[in-house]
Amino acid sequence: MHPQLELLLELQDLQTQRRALEDDPLRDMEEAVFELRPAEALDLLQVKIAEVIDRLEPGIRRRYMDLAGNLDRAVAPVLNGICYGCFVATPTAWASEAGRNDHIGVCDYCGRFLYYVD
Ligand SMILES: [Zn+2]
Repeated sequence: MHPQLELLLELQDLQTQRRALEDDPLRDMEEAVFELRPAEALDLLQVKIAEVIDRLEPGIRRRYMDLAGNLDRAVAPVLNGICYGCFVATPTAWASEAGRNDHIGVCDYCGRFLYYVD
């Protein structure tokens, strides 16, 4: 897999986790039962997210930031040639090749980054 694609997936997962923590009603509790208070966990997560964003190539970072601002997911899986971000077929040249996740592919229709799982 392309190292930048791995970073994008990691980033998306971290941001999903951040949203979950931000919505967590336990977030502001000070209970000693936590190894790490959710509010602190959120702070650490923000730092990690910034680090990963920093490691993206500038063009990819820009595109990610644009997408992440507008869409729930900036990276979508492709199953049976269909982008699961927008459910439109993605006729990319390398879609049927081995090693297709070695490319940074984007959906022609919704613009999300793509990774192939089928
Ligand atoms: Zn799409």
